Amino acid sequence: MNPQILLIYTGGTIGMIKDPVTASLHVFDFTYLLEKIPEINLLDCSIDNISFETPIDSSNINPSHWIEIARIIEQKYAVYDGFVVLHGSDTMSYSASALSFMLENLSKPVIFTGSQLPIGDLRTDAKENLITAIQIAALQNNNKAIINEVGLYFEYKLYRGNRTTKINADYFEAFSSLNFPALLTSGVHLNINHEILLKNYSKASFCVHKELDDNVALVKLFPGISQTVLSAILEIPKLKAVIIETYGSGNAFTYHWFLQAIKEAIEKGIYVVNVTQCAGGGVQMNQYHTGKLLEELGVISAKDMTTESALTKLMYMLGLKISRKMFKTVFESDLRGEIS
Ligand code: ASP
Repeated sequence: MNPQILLIYTGGTIGMIKDPVTASLHVFDFTYLLEKIPEINLLDCSIDNISFETPIDSSNINPSHWIEIARIIEQKYAVYDGFVVLHGSDTMSYSASALSFMLENLSKPVIFTGSQLPIGDLRTDAKENLITAIQIAALQNNNKAIINEVGLYFEYKLYRGNRTTKINADYFEAFSSLNFPALLTSGVHLNINHEILLKNYSKASFCVHKELDDNVALVKLFPGISQTVLSAILEIPKLKAVIIETYGSGNAFTYHWFLQAIKEAIEKGIYVVNVTQCAGGGVQMNQYHTGKLLEELGVISAKDMTTESALTKLMYMLGLKISRKMFKTVFESDLRGEIS
């Protein structure tokens, strides 16, 4: 039997249309999108679709939408062999990262894709992205899915979703995954990098986690950031975790007020996570004195995770109510291929 694929349409440029008066893009409905790609009917799989009641520009995505996507996949998991999530590119890396944590013991592909130009545009990248994403979701070997994880397909490359970052607002090649190679490259053939795919050896069954805790904050360090700014963030009521985007391999300035503020936050029970603001590489707090001081205070290392991945992993882990004793160890462990 042909693989059964479910397209989940959340919105984004891929299905947008130009307003004739203002010339700005706004979301349109799914029927329009499918009408524009009749080629979909030629694929060797059966395709159904489901759409958000109100498709959105992905700038409006929040954790409730991730729960909605997870719920759809949970409800339809037994019926379909693969899922393609159509999503705006702006926050696609956050959503793909979040879903990678929420869907545990996945043994079917969940492929995020979208486009930089709307489907109706002559030079659109939407057709290739959508058609190939569907083909990837339908890849099987002896009736078993080849991809068992959350991927992000864009411009000829399938990446592990939680390794990606949107790096370009103009180019079709909008995403990068600097700390992990592509899972698949699309050329004349689909070249699969089999060795690096996540293997689901676990006997445990598929499980969907729908509790996310958004009492988190993100601070990007810059030369000149003031004590007032940092303190205002660390004093947010109910704050449970903060990500500090540091320099290079996890370094921060050594001013007394800064280290004191971090120390007090940790003493209050706030988890402080160190993520590098570099696009590639990761945190190694023992490399320089400036990082070592943070390590000694009990700061958690995001290692080579992206900010998107670290942020959504925090929401997921806080939602799981992992004990204080275990939090650092679990966060620093590789759960879904997000850490090298
Ligand atoms: N603003 C759009 C969105 O993220 C951009 C895109 O789809 O590429 O929904």
